[in-house]
Amino acid sequence: MLELLLPQRCLACGRSGTAVCRRCLDSLPRIEPPLCARCGSPTAWPVRRCAECSGRRLAFETARAAVAYDERVRAILAGWKEHGLRRLAATAADLVEAVIERPAVDALTYVPPDRSRLLERGHHPAERLARELGERWQLPVAKVLARPRSSARQRGSSLAERRRNVRGAFVAKEAPRSVCLVDDVYTSGATASASASALRRAGARRVVVVTFARALRLR
Ligand SMILES: [Zn+2]
Ligand SMILES: [Zn+2]
Repeated sequence: MLELLLPQRCLACGRSGTAVCRRCLDSLPRIEPPLCARCGSPTAWPVRRCAECSGRRLAFETARAAVAYDERVRAILAGWKEHGLRRLAATAADLVEAVIERPAVDALTYVPPDRSRLLERGHHPAERLARELGERWQLPVAKVLARPRSSARQRGSSLAERRRNVRGAFVAKEAPRSVCLVDDVYTSGATASASASALRRAGARRVVVVTFARALRLR
């Protein structure tokens, strides 16, 4: 219902019309090959490991994202999180479907919300995105992960702090053998890796990660 009360302006450019206008939608920076086969970072040529992920222990097999996290994507995600615009989950899923190949897995799951943030917002973008992708890819969505404690806010913390904060932040019940973990943004990979660890402890043999957006480090 909230959606009806909001002024219809593009979250990215402010033009009146829809929540994301066609011009912005068409020009969002899609992440396309060549990529690092492991972490999905764009690279000059296809590589198995890149400067960003080599030497790191990542619990997932691969990570892929649809768009680069730029100012417009940041604005769209902020609007999505604040207002819970249902159709933004569909828009994000359309982009993911257009850019990323359907993963060969048994099921999808999602990074669980921090309890306090879920209460604040009353909705969870990662779960909504997973459900939209489940419909498009004809895959079941399993609720597997939970956060046993409230984790520290990630924003503004250093990479080392982020990794420390998320270690042990997730628990999983019985996980599908082969599973795709869905989240809205891939930032340092620490959250995805900690979630993937929990899935593997709960029986997953293979974990791949799919996100709507991905932060790109300067190379
Ligand atoms: Zn726009
Ligand atoms: Zn990499």
